[in-house]
Amino acid sequence: MFHVPQRDSDTPGKSMERLFFLGFVAALAVSGAGGRYYGDKVLRLQPEIEEHLQFIKNVSRSAKVDFWKPHSVELVTTNRSVDFRVDADRVSDLQAGLEKIGLKYEVLIDNLQTLIENQFDRKASRSLDYSYESYHNWDQIESWTATIADENPNLISRFEIGRSYEERPIYLLRVGNRTGSLKPAIFLDCGIHAREWISPAFCQWFVKEAIRNFGTRSTLDTLVNELDFLVVPVVNVDGYSYSWTKDRLWRKTRSRNPGSACVGTDLNRNFNAQWCAGGASRDPCSEIYCGPQVESEKEVKAIAGCIRSHSSTIKAYLTIHSYSQKCLFPYSYTHALAFDHEELNNLASNAVDALTSLYGTPFEFGPGASSMYVASGGSDDWVYDLGIKYSFTFELRDTGKYGFLLPESQIRPTCEETMLAVYHIASYVLNHLY
Ligand SMILES: [Zn+2]
Repeated sequence: MFHVPQRDSDTPGKSMERLFFLGFVAALAVSGAGGRYYGDKVLRLQPEIEEHLQFIKNVSRSAKVDFWKPHSVELVTTNRSVDFRVDADRVSDLQAGLEKIGLKYEVLIDNLQTLIENQFDRKASRSLDYSYESYHNWDQIESWTATIADENPNLISRFEIGRSYEERPIYLLRVGNRTGSLKPAIFLDCGIHAREWISPAFCQWFVKEAIRNFGTRSTLDTLVNELDFLVVPVVNVDGYSYSWTKDRLWRKTRSRNPGSACVGTDLNRNFNAQWCAGGASRDPCSEIYCGPQVESEKEVKAIAGCIRSHSSTIKAYLTIHSYSQKCLFPYSYTHALAFDHEELNNLASNAVDALTSLYGTPFEFGPGASSMYVASGGSDDWVYDLGIKYSFTFELRDTGKYGFLLPESQIRPTCEETMLAVYHIASYVLNHLY
């Protein structure tokens, strides 16, 4: 289905040396990112009445808070907790205000900068091998995509499916052994939101596991025999790079917005699924800005274009986010149930059971609108309406203790448990081809 592999000419050994060096430099860059979050806290509020909502709205007008869950003040409702970051110099005022109006809260993260530095809690490996239990910056991941394809030509091919706003290539790895015939495919993307670092780590883990299992007659080996997995390790390459070099908590793309000083569009509000209706904002400064028009973002064009041109072979779509430990399926743009609701609900339930069986990690599941919040322009809804029935969004660990700053020591268990859910869905899809 794809014909023009794009590879660079580095030998694997040379690439690995370069990766190791880049990793060292990158870790220095992030850990020393100016200490800009020193003393900042993340609070979890429990708004119960209208007065509480009004208070949160007033606070949000200050540029010094940043909503983590939900992602924007527009999505805040009563009886659902709200996680947000507040600047160090505003903390005591805010806490006094909360206590005055009786808005219950807890401090989730006491010093954000400490947590940012503690993400890299894995002891440095002496091995020059690529570590799948470390976070990698974009340069490292880009080199990895080339190396992994070069070293595994029978299993993996790399394609450039588009370029980002800042002209970085967006790569797709086709993972599946060559049978000579057209195989049904599962599309798996990671890194739509920049700060959700566990997501690209999962896509890399998936590819690593496919290689490790190749020829072993294991479940995954069977799956890559029968299916192609189309894996995009990082969709929002500009935002991801920015989250390493400038702002660890960046979410959106890096496209400029004419007439506004605010940068970026929320990729997961930019797809053609009831674009910019509920749960999206027309304000370029919002974290859920839907963009100037549908598919305005080059990253969305790349993903949507690729899926459209292979929509008859793609049978399932999995998109990986964090955090909140949820498995969601359409719809998010409406409370109406999807035509396939019952089947998707059963499949999600069983996938989550498989995930939880490994470490007991609790996972919720359900349609996006009721399990999370109403949100339009999301990739999963767009894919579903295109006719790809098995469409799921995973929100990986955790539920707020570390939030987006999940330590590296949790990469392995998070990926291991998520693999079980992916196996379950992929096996089901294989037995229910349409
Ligand atoms: Zn996300």
